[in-house]
Amino acid sequence: MKCEHCTRKECSKKTKTDDQENASADAPSPAQENGEKGEFHKLADAKIFLSDCLACDSCVTAEEGVQVSQQNAKDFFRVLNLNKKCDASQHKVLAVSVCPQSLPYFAAKFSLSVTDASRRLCGFLKSLGVHYVFDMTIAADFSILESQKEFVRRYRQHREEEPRLPMLTSACPGWVRYAERVLGHPITPHLCTAKSPQQIMGSLVKDYFARRQNLSPDKIFHVIVAPCYDKKLEALREDVPTALHSSRGADCVLTSGEIVQLMEQSDLSADDALVDTLLTRFGDVKEEEVRRHEGASSDGYLAHIFRHAAKELFNEDVGALTYRSLRNKDFQEVTLERDGEVLLRFAAAYGFRNIQNVVLKLKRGKFPYHFVEVLACAGGCLSGRGQAQAEDGRADRALLRQMEGIYAAIPVRPPETSAHVQELYQEWLGGADSPRPRALHTAYQGPGQSASSRDIKW
Ligand code: SF4
Repeated sequence: MKCEHCTRKECSKKTKTDDQENASADAPSPAQENGEKGEFHKLADAKIFLSDCLACDSCVTAEEGVQVSQQNAKDFFRVLNLNKKCDASQHKVLAVSVCPQSLPYFAAKFSLSVTDASRRLCGFLKSLGVHYVFDMTIAADFSILESQKEFVRRYRQHREEEPRLPMLTSACPGWVRYAERVLGHPITPHLCTAKSPQQIMGSLVKDYFARRQNLSPDKIFHVIVAPCYDKKLEALREDVPTALHSSRGADCVLTSGEIVQLMEQSDLSADDALVDTLLTRFGDVKEEEVRRHEGASSDGYLAHIFRHAAKELFNEDVGALTYRSLRNKDFQEVTLERDGEVLLRFAAAYGFRNIQNVVLKLKRGKFPYHFVEVLACAGGCLSGRGQAQAEDGRADRALLRQMEGIYAAIPVRPPETSAHVQELYQEWLGGADSPRPRALHTAYQGPGQSASSRDIKW
């Protein structure tokens, strides 16, 4: 389990270096150009394992550490077992939401198509006593649509004296945590305020779905199945609408790897089942097919926002996007040009080193991009450390290649074309220009604003 987010100067774990593997992704600093490595780059060479990071007593506070470690299969079974007891006041409705980037892992592990893997997983969870299984693609739909609107708004408001660009995506909790805890101002104002898919799914389940079912939010135990451990930390964010009272959007995050372990320890004889939908208006409606967004290993914010912006701002219909790899395959750019002039310049920066390049250039004021899709994991979400790990803790490359092929074969559904999303905008929020922005948008802290991080030296 590798955590690439920490650069804390006093972190005792900065011992595992691997210059060769990542050398191509480093931006040469003036010191490097002179053949030396500055303190910053020495730190950037360090590989911190998330297990180390979570055990560290400074970056993750003791309280957070406890709360993260409590999100495990034991907690899940605790609720399942309570539901079997006579005392109905202890019972909870158990809902599980599955990240789309987890499904290729289940498909590859069990040699199934992605649709069959989704049904197998759903059948397994229901055989344990889970009441509802949801696909989180719908939450990513909301997140992308809100991000698109925000980008266009920022583009129109952008002034040199009052910069609103570049807009940096905020769907990856590893990156957002790093930006908030380490970078702060001037980076956090560039973070898109649209909530991440996990945060929106939390609101959908604990707010919309709870109300439709006449349940108090704390009567629902909401589990997220995700490709990474960072989402366990994200579940701790105090960022839910007040309507949810003391209930968190997600009560427990289990990684795909943790779920596969459970499945492998079970007899898997349960019948396959179809995934549920959040819309209860039409009765017991089920999701028949798996759909994805356009990104090769993520939710494809770059592609969807690029197309939307090209149309809205320049009345250009964009077909297939042409990506240009820059320093490495995890730093790519896409441009919209007209008569030799660059109208839009977007980038995707995946992995800690590419993020560092973005941050350095942004701080120096030499950053030519309007938008950057930022993900903490090199290779994107399919490479999340909660799945596709070999025995030695490194990424299982053969399995990842298989997963990439499986993910690429899933049909793409642009978020604008989802009838469920349009209905939910109306039913849940009172329209696409919602009078309840807190349901879909958030705000960010900087270092020093959180009491828990006040004494950390970065
Ligand atoms: S890029 Fe990695 S850390 Fe970020 S959301 Fe995806 S899997 Fe999680």
